[in-house]
Amino acid sequence: MRSLLITLILAWPLSAAAQAPRMSEAAAKDAVYRIVQHSGLLPTFTVREDATIKNANAYIKGRERIIAYNPTFIASIIDSSRTDWSAVSILAHEIAHHLLGHTLAPSELHPGDELACDRYSGFVLFHMGATLQESLAAIAVAGNVHGTRDHPPKHARSAAIQQGWEEAERMSERRDAVPLKVDIAFQYVVRFAGDDNTYYVDAAGCLVWFNDHAEPIEFGACTRLGEGAFVFALNWEDQEFFVDARNIIWRQSVNGMQMAVGRIEPYTVAK
Ligand SMILES: [Zn+2]
Repeated sequence: MRSLLITLILAWPLSAAAQAPRMSEAAAKDAVYRIVQHSGLLPTFTVREDATIKNANAYIKGRERIIAYNPTFIASIIDSSRTDWSAVSILAHEIAHHLLGHTLAPSELHPGDELACDRYSGFVLFHMGATLQESLAAIAVAGNVHGTRDHPPKHARSAAIQQGWEEAERMSERRDAVPLKVDIAFQYVVRFAGDDNTYYVDAAGCLVWFNDHAEPIEFGACTRLGEGAFVFALNWEDQEFFVDARNIIWRQSVNGMQMAVGRIEPYTVAK
């Protein structure tokens, strides 16, 4: 891909070496297409060469999401950074402004937005095959990509790119990660009245709760009973509940009264 981009981007005029190189719209469109591909999205951006802007810009016009760039600016960045990845990273930064919704309120400039876009560019460039140095190339020579107002310092922007790049690297190296499984073999879903949490009975008969990081906490047991009025017993610590054949959870109060306190449901829904 690199050699192809170099061919596309650096259309050096053979006879006029003194002329500045340009970045063709074809090259920019190809780069944007590849960046968006790595986001798993369909490209819905209009890429536009625009000599009237200083460097690069993302904005919405009508219903179009536009990425505009000054071809001479991009080419000079490529020239001084000595890598075409610098052009890719600038375009990735602009794409991020659209993807993160910044272009919906264009008058508001937030330094955090800039860092978020830098982080995204590092993330996506890792996936496209760029080294960390190549991902940092544009910021190293340009500092600020578009304008100067409200932009975070160069070292912060470099740090953001590096953070995104390293995050992508970590994710790609986590080969032993447990694959995301939608269909986990639970036996029952357990709900108690007045409690918004959902509990599960796993295949081993454990009562399980999940925190917001989806980490399971086993906190009790669900035991199938033999003969009698109740089918299951639910226990944890000094708590004890019984489940009848209609899936209602009962607790025995201090005065011996049975109170319905919840329900269990089979985890698998009958089709
Ligand atoms: Zn920006």
